Parts: sequence; structure tokens; C-alpha cells
Amino acid sequence: MERRGEDLRTDRAHGARIYDYILGGEDNFPVDREAGENSLRIWPALRPHMRANRDFMHRVARYLAAECGIRQFLDIGTGLPTSPNLHEIVQEIDPTAQVVYTDNDPLVLAHARSLTLEGRTAYIDADMRDPRSILDAPEFRATLDLDQPVGLLLIAIVHFIEDDAEALRVVRQVLDVLPSGSYLAMSIATDEFDPVPLAEVQREYNRLGEKLIFRDRPAALRFFDGLELCEPGLVQVHRWRPDGSGDRNIQDRDIAMYGAVARKP
Ligand code: SAH
Repeated sequence: MERRGEDLRTDRAHGARIYDYILGGEDNFPVDREAGENSLRIWPALRPHMRANRDFMHRVARYLAAECGIRQFLDIGTGLPTSPNLHEIVQEIDPTAQVVYTDNDPLVLAHARSLTLEGRTAYIDADMRDPRSILDAPEFRATLDLDQPVGLLLIAIVHFIEDDAEALRVVRQVLDVLPSGSYLAMSIATDEFDPVPLAEVQREYNRLGEKLIFRDRPAALRFFDGLELCEPGLVQVHRWRPDGSGDRNIQDRDIAMYGAVARKP
């Protein structure tokens, strides 16, 4: 599907592009760099925080593929390609593993070819606030066998959905179609560890046109109601099964993200 250039909304900051800028990518515009630089000045931990989130995604992917035997993945809120991507990790463990990527950002769509060229992946251009647009997409049914467990990844995305009830509903609606033995992996933004600068970062994102919603621990845990949390439960992302490869000097106050993985009984 072609989208017109103005859909990129280069006058407003976008989460995917700010994240790309902070992680050293080139898929961003001046307004995204302004949001990124201003946020870094307010909260210098932003870069290690985002790096820790990306590293969490890598460990989750390896855990699901290598330890839980998951061979099919649905990644909602894929972001701009930053190697390694999910399919590179899981297809190294099993080349037949399948990945469906989903995002609603036109710039991510423009890069979908680089995600789907190699390996067994599909891309759905959809807004997760309308889960049917994902679940009814031909690529979804064609790529995933719903008689087999699926790993559902929602990494650093629900902070763009303001309303708690809506966020819970859309996650639940996707999970409902997945069979028993599937897994939900999420990272969820929180300001519990350094609230003062994070309130200012939030204002900066909002000022430049992007949402940023923080959740406390009880609100984050509600996404996993009815599921079996895997060890060590819901913790800050750098504390979730660290493998020694990340930054050892990370302070808790520098990580504004909870993460967890849970199994659908
Ligand atoms: N999951 C990746 C990227 C996170 S950035 C990682 O953690 O490394 C968050 C992504 O969610 C962005 O690419 C943004 O475009 C996407 N996103 C935000 N709101 C969305 C929505 N309502 N539907 C689909 N994708 C959304």
C-alpha cells in the first residue's frame, strides 16, 4: 500500500522516530530530534533506558524461542528496523520460525520491505486500537497457525494508549484468539523510579505532538491478569533475566520500563 508523504506528519514528533534517533538511527526528522535532544537534557538516562528496552526484547525473543519452544510471533508496535530484529533472533534459533510485524507508523511501513525481504515474515499496517484490523488481515491468518502457540510481543507500545480500559481491552482481544500455551510479552512505561524528570519528559513529548503515558506497578500487572507470569514476574526491564551482555552500571532510577512475560493457560 502506498501512503502519501504528508502522512508522515513531519511537523509532529513520533514515538518510533524519537526512539530511532536516540538509538542512533537515521529515520527521523528535525521535530523528532528536537524531542529527543530536549528529553535527553531533562533526563540523560533516556538513552540507556531505551537501550535496555531493546535488549529486553532481544532476551524475550531468545527465551520464547529457545526455552518455551515458540515458533510463531506477532509483534505489535515493531518500530523502525534496528538490527537485530525479532525475526533475526528467532530464525537463528529455528529458521522456520514465523513472524508477523504490525505498526501504524507510515515510516515503519516504508521500511517493511527490509523486514519482510528475508526470512519468513509478514507485515500488517494496522492500528492496534482496532485489533480486528490485525486479526482480520489476510497476512495474519496466512502466516500464523492458530492451532499452535504464538508469542505476542507488545514492547514499548502501550504508553501510546492513554486510556487504561482501552489498552487492556485491545491486548485482551488479541490474546483471546491465541491458543492455550501462547505467551504475552510486554514492556510498559512507568515513572515510579524517577517521577520528577519523567513528568517533564512527558510534557516535552506532549508539547511536540506525541503521547507518553506512565503506569504504576498495579496498572502494569493488570495486563497479565489470568495469565501465568514467568520468572521473575514483572520487574524493570534490565532486571528481567539479565544475560550479562547489557550495561552493568545501570541504576534502577534510569529505567522507566516494567517488563514481563506470561503464559496463557
Ligand atoms: N517494539 C519496538 C519499537 C517500540 S517504539 C521496540 O521496543 O524496540 C513503539 C512503536 O509502536 C512505534 O513504532 C509506533 O509507531 C508504534 N505504535 C504506537 N501506537 C501504535 C498503534 N496504536 N498501533 C500500532 N502501532 C503503534
